[in-house]
Amino acid sequence: MQCCGIGYDVHRLVTGRKCILGGVEIPHPKGLEGHSDADVLIHAIADAILGAIGEGDIGKHFPNSDPRWKDAPSRVFLSEIRHMLEGKGARLLNIDATVIAEAPKVLPHAPAMRSHIAGALGLDPRHVNLKATTNEGMGFIGRAEGIAAFAVASVEAP
Ligand code: MG
Repeated sequence: MQCCGIGYDVHRLVTGRKCILGGVEIPHPKGLEGHSDADVLIHAIADAILGAIGEGDIGKHFPNSDPRWKDAPSRVFLSEIRHMLEGKGARLLNIDATVIAEAPKVLPHAPAMRSHIAGALGLDPRHVNLKATTNEGMGFIGRAEGIAAFAVASVEAP
């Protein structure tokens, strides 16, 4: 059967951190704050896939209290989830995601992000769709205090 899952994440932008989105380092005066590399896009995608296979969320599998994930590249979460999918005999069909950020500009980096995410998940990049929007200057995202991401994933599961 085909199953779908949704993911959402948000991280605060702070000085003194690299800005990693979709596994790609984006030149920006601020980066995302978090236990791992705080890659908000990959976290939303991870939650979407975990949702599709009924496996809870990223906090259950990769708790921020675990020193293994301290400053970890979020690609490792996708690799672990890929193994979970294989263990269940499930196949990821596609990912669609939206990044909501006032700054930095995300779309110029989308092709590199797509290939990074697709590579980690063993997907064809054509099946990883990325979109980006601003928050039209409103709220915490509009004030560039943080970046949010939404993702959906569909999975063919036995
Ligand atoms: Mg997160």
